[in-house]
Amino acid sequence: MRLWLFIPTATTNQDAIARDKSIESLAHKAGAKFLSFKDHVIFEAPEVLKQDGTPFKVFTPFKRAWLSKLNESGQEVETVTPDFQNFVKADPAAFPTLAEMGFEAFSGDIPSQKPSAAIIGNYDKTRDFPAQNGTTKLGIHLRFGTVSIREMVALARKMNDTWLNELIWREFYSYIMQHFPHVTDRAFNKKYDKIPWLNSESDFDKWCNGLTGYPIVDAGMRELNATGYMHNRVRMITASFLTKHLLIDWRWGESYFASKLLDYELASNNGGWQWAAGTGTDAQPWFRIFNPYAQAEKFDPNNEYIKKWVPEYDSPSYPKPMVDHKKARERALATFKSVLA
Ligand code: FAD
Repeated sequence: MRLWLFIPTATTNQDAIARDKSIESLAHKAGAKFLSFKDHVIFEAPEVLKQDGTPFKVFTPFKRAWLSKLNESGQEVETVTPDFQNFVKADPAAFPTLAEMGFEAFSGDIPSQKPSAAIIGNYDKTRDFPAQNGTTKLGIHLRFGTVSIREMVALARKMNDTWLNELIWREFYSYIMQHFPHVTDRAFNKKYDKIPWLNSESDFDKWCNGLTGYPIVDAGMRELNATGYMHNRVRMITASFLTKHLLIDWRWGESYFASKLLDYELASNNGGWQWAAGTGTDAQPWFRIFNPYAQAEKFDPNNEYIKKWVPEYDSPSYPKPMVDHKKARERALATFKSVLA
């Protein structure tokens, strides 16, 4: 009997790659044919390189090369149709439960797999405003492979370049993790591994529980805790606050997000955290520190998002800011400078 195993290749992290390799070797030992194919991304890491054959480290030139490869190959519409005749018909095997695999049941709503045309069409105008329903919520489906990245890229090319740009960020972070696997637990730029983080556990608890006294930060953390989702703009604000205002190691925040986000995906989460901390490839520079008040004024001008998640924000029961913005900013600048000097 001939056994065929079809595996959508996990292109992102080393553990997943090692897992796929061990399945391949198991299949070979059993005399089975093993077929793997690209699924998670449009291009795998070795397919997009600089002229000199080395990997890109900066998003914009990566994006340019990625788009030009896409235009010349039309790869996003390539599909694979397995020949089901080759599958073994067998009784279902005992399968580990979700709990045994480390998942917890979730009772909230799962977003639709069909993105709204209106949301994609207006994405460039609405995507930065957390009170609006202005992003697709497709992260969970892209992460678990329940929508096709090829179909989404085809849609984005027809409908909205800004949305396409975000799908390319997803590819970029996956690419970075594969070319530079040390980013999984260290700074992309090694000199940032020396930052003397303060890592106060009580400060971290306040951040996790949305009790920092900064309404936009607390709104984001409470949204995350209640729904397993946080708007991208607010992910950037909360991550910046943890790493710069509180000087807490980005890996603490990364791991908290990993435990809560339904769309948690190692490469994008890691990339987002290293971007905010200023330690990553193509990161926000360390000396640019988000002002949470200015961010709220710009992206939640009527406090709608804040009121939804922190209804008591304007009352005496709401905590005072746990750090002074100006002083915390200066402390962060001095700390980063001390390492870079
Ligand atoms: P949309 O805005 O509609 O975008 C469509 C899809 O494009 C997303 O679902 C996602 O797959 C991709 N995408 C959009 N923005 C980004 C981005 N900046 N980087 C990478 N991919 C992007 N995204 C994850 O999928 N998983 C994570 O664990 C994750 N953690 C993050 C942590 C931090 C600190 C930051 C700053 C960002 C993180 N992101 C992560 C990226 C981004 O915030 C989410 O992809 C986005 O908010 C998901 O909302 P949406 O599905 O409505 O996406």
